[in-house]
Amino acid sequence: MRGRRGGFAFAVFPSLFLWASAASQAATLIHAGRVIDGVSDTVKTNQTVVVDAGKITAIEPGYRTPAAGDRVIDLKQGTLLPGLFDMHVHLSGEYSKNSEINSYKRNEADFAIDSVVHAERTLLAGFTTVRDLGDEYRETISLRNAINAGKLPGPRIIAAGKAIGTTGGHADPTNGWARRFPSNPGPDDGVINGVDDARKAVRQRYKDGSDTIKITATGGVLSIAKSGSNPQFTEEEVRAIVSTARDYGFKVAAHAHGAEGIKRAVRGGVDTIEHGTFLDDEGIKLMKERGTFYVPTISAGNWVYQQAQNADFFPAVVRPKALAVGPQIQATFAKAYKAGVKILFGTDTGVSKHGDNAHEFKLMVDNGMPPMEAIRVATSAPAKFLDLDDKVGSIAVGKLGELVGVPGNPLEDITAMERVVFVMKDNTVYKAP
Ligand SMILES: [Zn+2]
Repeated sequence: MRGRRGGFAFAVFPSLFLWASAASQAATLIHAGRVIDGVSDTVKTNQTVVVDAGKITAIEPGYRTPAAGDRVIDLKQGTLLPGLFDMHVHLSGEYSKNSEINSYKRNEADFAIDSVVHAERTLLAGFTTVRDLGDEYRETISLRNAINAGKLPGPRIIAAGKAIGTTGGHADPTNGWARRFPSNPGPDDGVINGVDDARKAVRQRYKDGSDTIKITATGGVLSIAKSGSNPQFTEEEVRAIVSTARDYGFKVAAHAHGAEGIKRAVRGGVDTIEHGTFLDDEGIKLMKERGTFYVPTISAGNWVYQQAQNADFFPAVVRPKALAVGPQIQATFAKAYKAGVKILFGTDTGVSKHGDNAHEFKLMVDNGMPPMEAIRVATSAPAKFLDLDDKVGSIAVGKLGELVGVPGNPLEDITAMERVVFVMKDNTVYKAP
């Protein structure tokens, strides 16, 4: 990779190696048993994909013999795919039994350092682009900058910075605190009440260097608050957020579980509904009319449901919410997909463990989405949504060499997506078979 480690073979895990792209002009030749390009339904077999100076320069049938200095990646037994997108992660956190007490103990540097570890884990799991939908201290903006500068291995990050909620709402960072602590945050810390605050919070995120806006339109499972689904913004507040966001070129993502909060967010003009747990028929109709995307995050629903089987894992106020959400989110995904709501792949990783992102593929396929479509909603569809489709999200000549390899055929066994053997980004091979 570029930067301080350049030129050294570097052990990431015992079986994985990160090494610098050669200083010469040598190309990387990937001999792929199958190529899924992220766009078409056709799978090409026995192909050579050539990456030179970070770009795909050729895709040809057969296994091309390397020229002197070329590097060959042997993926003849596997499948080559575009680098994967996860449209909902939280790189600087990972939920644990200690999360509530940790909110009093952890400083900015703790979050920042963890985010570096999680970013590398995410990249090695095959995710070359992520949307980070909320941090604590804007640390994911610094992380994004460091990765873009080649200082650290990690995915391309579309960062929201601090999420925006209302007083006592899901993104209020002081929920559950004793009143002796400062507990009346404002727009800077992501808490708004009214349209003026809403505009100020969006403008602050522009100043912070955010790439996108995240709001918490309803209660959430893991916050220290009673309801996981009540509406927490007025429609007027959502509209103020969205119209201000447009001034600055931001898209808006809305965390929303309850049906009423989902509908206010959709009518208010947000671009994506995250989780969407209790989405009703009217909400489905509205989302289709407006073209609002759905990011289901079945992984998070499943994970909290599993942890909630243990009576001691969550704070008492959280457990009943976790038990209710898990099974419902799968049913909602199945229904929304069948109804034709536009879907983008997202996991809410940081609830579940970093590096396990690809388990979402199995959850989507188990709930009715064909494997090829599950791959498309994690590649070309999010690339288009993020206006990155001229660079990434598909395998085509001229696109960046952001590529992932899995063993076998993911169309026959979608869990192959969880066993990534090859990752390339920024003209660097981070993982090789
Ligand atoms: Zn989230």
